[in-house]
Amino acid sequence: MLGIWNLSRKHFRVSLHDGRFVKLNHFENRLNEKDLRFYCYKLKPMHVYFSVLNWLFPERVGKKYKAEYCIPLNVEYVIDVDSYLVGFKHIHKVDDHWFVCPECIDMAKRIALQLCEVIQKYYRKIAIVFSGCAGFHVHVMDFNYYDWVHYHWNDPIWAHAAARFKFTKLLQKQTHCFDRAHFTVSVDPMRVVTVPNTINGKTGLVCKFIGTPKDLELLTIDEVLEMSKAFPVHSYPEALEGSSMGCNGSMKSCAKNIAEAA
Ligand SMILES: [Zn+2]
Repeated sequence: MLGIWNLSRKHFRVSLHDGRFVKLNHFENRLNEKDLRFYCYKLKPMHVYFSVLNWLFPERVGKKYKAEYCIPLNVEYVIDVDSYLVGFKHIHKVDDHWFVCPECIDMAKRIALQLCEVIQKYYRKIAIVFSGCAGFHVHVMDFNYYDWVHYHWNDPIWAHAAARFKFTKLLQKQTHCFDRAHFTVSVDPMRVVTVPNTINGKTGLVCKFIGTPKDLELLTIDEVLEMSKAFPVHSYPEALEGSSMGCNGSMKSCAKNIAEAA
C-alpha cells in the first residue's frame, strides 16, 4: 500500500457477524489488496484486522508459542487512542445515523496529537487512521526494536515484546493514552489492528487513513466524519490506493509525507 504497509507480509483476520474469527491467510499464503477486497466482499466481516508485525511466513501465524517459526520482521508499533481515557465529562451528542459522538472524537484527536508530539522525540514516520468509532490509531512506522533491546535469536517474540514494553513505559509517563488495557495491548507483538480504509462494522464508518499528525491537526471532526461516510456501507473495503483521501491531497501525497518525515 504505497510503501506504508506491506500487505503481503501481514497476517489477516476478520471477525464475522456471528462472532467467529477467520484467518484469511488460511485461504492464501500472501494477500494483496485485490485478494483482501475479494474476501471482504465475500465474507462481509464486522471488522478486518492485520497483524501489527510483518512476518516472513504470515500463513503460519497462529499460537504465540509457535510464532518464532513464522519469523517476525521489524516493523510498526501501534497505539489505540480513545477519548474515555481522560475521563472527559460531557453529554454525548450521538448522531442518529452513525452513532458516534463528535465531541468524543474531538477529545481523542487532541490526545492523539499530544501523543504524536511525544513520539516525535523518538520516531518520525507516523501514520494516523480513524478508528471508525470514537478514536484514532497511531501507527509508528519506523519503530525499531534494536533501539530498545538486543535481539534474541531463540526467542524473537520476546525481543519484540520487550522493546514495546520499554517504549510504552516511556510514553505512559508523558501522555494520557495508557490505562491497563491499552498498555497490555500496545506491548503485545501478537496483536492485530484494524486494516486502514476498511469498515468498522459497528458504526458502518470507514476506518479512514488520515495521514500524518499534521494532516489530522488540519482536519475538523466534521471533515473526518465526512471522509469516513464516503462510500456505501456494504462495499468492502475501499480501494487502499489511488482514490482521493481528503487529507490535503491524495493518498499518495499523504504516503509521501509519511515516507519523507524520516
Ligand atoms: Zn461524547
